[in-house]
Amino acid sequence: MQNFRWIILTVLALTGIALADPHTLKASRFNGVLYVSVHDIATYYELGANSSGAAGRVSYRSATAQLVAEHDCRDITLNGVTHWLSVPVLDTHGQLWIASLDVLKVLDPVFREGRLPGKIPVRTVMLDPGHGGRDHGAEGAIGREKVLTLDLAKRVQRLLEAAGLKVIPTRTIDENVSLDERVALTNRKNADLFVSLHFNSGGNAQGIETYCVPPAGAASTGNPFRRFFGGGDDKCAANQFDEKNVWLAHCCQRSLLHITGANDRGVRRARYVVIRDVACPAILIESGFLSNPVEEQRLISSDYRDKLAKGIAEGILEYRRTTE
Ligand SMILES: [Zn+2]
Repeated sequence: MQNFRWIILTVLALTGIALADPHTLKASRFNGVLYVSVHDIATYYELGANSSGAAGRVSYRSATAQLVAEHDCRDITLNGVTHWLSVPVLDTHGQLWIASLDVLKVLDPVFREGRLPGKIPVRTVMLDPGHGGRDHGAEGAIGREKVLTLDLAKRVQRLLEAAGLKVIPTRTIDENVSLDERVALTNRKNADLFVSLHFNSGGNAQGIETYCVPPAGAASTGNPFRRFFGGGDDKCAANQFDEKNVWLAHCCQRSLLHITGANDRGVRRARYVVIRDVACPAILIESGFLSNPVEEQRLISSDYRDKLAKGIAEGILEYRRTTE
């Protein structure tokens, strides 16, 4: 086992957050991947004591932060929201370990609550109602994705404009807009944030998922366990916003869950074209499954879509508050 000083800690120390002793946090290499022990993470972020009695599982909760993780799992709980890691949690040398990449790109933005370097004031938000025209998207027994995304975007737009933000939709009518056109429009308008709105399809699954791109070299959430690095998962434009993407996704996922009470399917990773190629922090929200008859009943209700809109708008406003 080799130990490494973790250079990023110097950066963290310089940005002014109250930390324990950053020099105590070390990374160790197992099977070619750098990890930090969960014990060191808990000390560093002052998470208190592990209250889990189970082997291979940790549960920390302080007054302001929460971490639940289980060995071999890529999904962990951070401050009430499920997050999908790039690398599964490792159980070795009598404790659990989280990859340095995930500590840096997932845990740190969440535990620092958006107090990130390189702040950009949020003035213009691009809202992207998925699909349209010939492209219907997912279809339930009654609900059509392209209709519901446009309706939801209009509701979110009203709330954000009432809070003083400029909102530009990628479409305002039932028309075909290619993915590349959506990206080009966002970049031409110099948007500060991009939020793509979708509804899901996949049997009887239910709940809300929020996507952002994985870090360079890491696989998307849907990829098999062993392929977490390599496989053509190259760096993309959005990787310059990795931490901001995660924080925006966390804010929206958290407020959506809070307002709707929906099932938490987590902050997930995929290199979808629209969130991969825009020149600002970007997320894609799947607000529920049209393929599930019970969830579809909620999604086609105007009152429920008001809740979804409120959840998304409040998440964006929380991001603005914390990053300014
Ligand atoms: Zn869609």
